[in-house]
Amino acid sequence: QQLTDSILYLDGVSVSFDGFKALNDLSLVMGRGEMRAIIGPNGAGKTTMMDVITGKTRPDKGEVFFEGSVDLTKHDEASIAELGIGRKFQKPTVFETQTVFDNLELALKADRSVLATLLWRRSKEADQRIDEILAITRLGDHRDRLAGSLSHGQKQWLEIGMLLAQDPKLLLVDEPAAGMTDDETAETAILLKDIAKTHSVVVVEHDMTFVRDLGVRVTVLHEGSVLAEGSLDTVSANERVVEVYLGR
Ligand code: ADP
Repeated sequence: QQLTDSILYLDGVSVSFDGFKALNDLSLVMGRGEMRAIIGPNGAGKTTMMDVITGKTRPDKGEVFFEGSVDLTKHDEASIAELGIGRKFQKPTVFETQTVFDNLELALKADRSVLATLLWRRSKEADQRIDEILAITRLGDHRDRLAGSLSHGQKQWLEIGMLLAQDPKLLLVDEPAAGMTDDETAETAILLKDIAKTHSVVVVEHDMTFVRDLGVRVTVLHEGSVLAEGSLDTVSANERVVEVYLGR
């Protein structure tokens, strides 16, 4: 296996909570530049997997390699973020009383050292980067609106934009389509595909219509390890996947 070409390689990762195995010898390889959808029933271990990647949870066993060589289990949360791994949680947490533009500027500033933040002047490059992000996140017409006045879907996009402002190599996105209208869900799939042209992306998602729209390789987790992997059609035809989802 060409692990040096991988953005993420989980090798035999186990996590127990009071003897209960949330992750059970989980192994997974993701190529650089790949977007991967992670699905699986409640309790399958999806959140725990994200927690292990971001350093929030330390595994009892196993290793997590970033870009083929850096073992993330040896790093803490802050340094993993600095290495270029950004995570978006399900609930949007934008600054509601600030404009869309200001939210993005704050996120850009946050990526800098304390000194650089103090010395921050609005630069051409920063404005340019914000314009790019506004375009990617479909918020160009809303830059001067207060974030609090955006729709739920637009808030999610803004938060994805704030993540992009931190210039991560790998984005972890938790249920981006939750609570969205059908139109927003479809638009979110296009938006993520745009981002995936230049970034590696892990998407945890329940909405199968959305996963179908993404059209990417799917990993099905069950009881803390990989049950199946492949296209959505392939894994949907897998008997064990059907059993797990229908609870038989
Ligand atoms: P998913 O995100 O796929 O729904 P989780 O990773 O949240 O699954 O959870 C996997 C299992 O681990 C669940 O049974 C959950 O109850 C358990 N679990 C997760 N976090 C903790 C924790 N901090 N303490 C105890 N049990 C936990």
